[in-house]
Amino acid sequence: MATSSERTPLAERVEELLAAGGPLPIVSAGDPVLRRGTRPFDGELDAALLSRFVEALRLTMRAAPGVGLAAPQVGVPLRIAVIEDPAPVPEEVAVARGRVPLPFRVLVNPSYEPVGSGRAAFFEGCLSVPGWQAVVGRHAAVRVTGQDEYGRGVDEVFRGWPARIVQHETDHLDGVLYLDRAESRSLASNEAMAERWGQATPGDAARELGFTLPE
Ligand code: ZN
Repeated sequence: MATSSERTPLAERVEELLAAGGPLPIVSAGDPVLRRGTRPFDGELDAALLSRFVEALRLTMRAAPGVGLAAPQVGVPLRIAVIEDPAPVPEEVAVARGRVPLPFRVLVNPSYEPVGSGRAAFFEGCLSVPGWQAVVGRHAAVRVTGQDEYGRGVDEVFRGWPARIVQHETDHLDGVLYLDRAESRSLASNEAMAERWGQATPGDAARELGFTLPE
């Protein structure tokens, strides 16, 4: 734990990031900070600085726009992520993908484990890999344990698209990018996605691009 009279190097780093104001710069794949993993949050930022940092993560996620953002994506190796998905998609897509609205929340020191054996395979993308998407097979439901931004315990089951989001963001905290789990032949530019692969499920893409839908 840090004392209030002694700023940790991480606190200094966060203060510098916040000093510029506005959305934070998002680091891209190739930066080691996305690969080193994070250490559990243990008071390295005091309550006021944590609150300001979380607010900056929220602003940055919304401006991107994205449905999740992990601290390493702004160069901070702490086990903290934010998630939020208004789910502005057509009904058919929402039903097929289980994409229900996910209110804003903060995950501190999250970890997940599968609930049941169900799997789901869909295209996803990442703010640190701009311009591209790929199909990733993930657990259909996960149990997430950890804390919130106030240090209160979290123990909750996420299903559907929210389960995908929390797996993606928690993986960031372990130095894992979605590409590590993706079907590489499914890789598609945002342009190709818009032109060809807007279907609710990736079956057509699997046939046309020559990949097997991952289990
Ligand atoms: Zn990401």
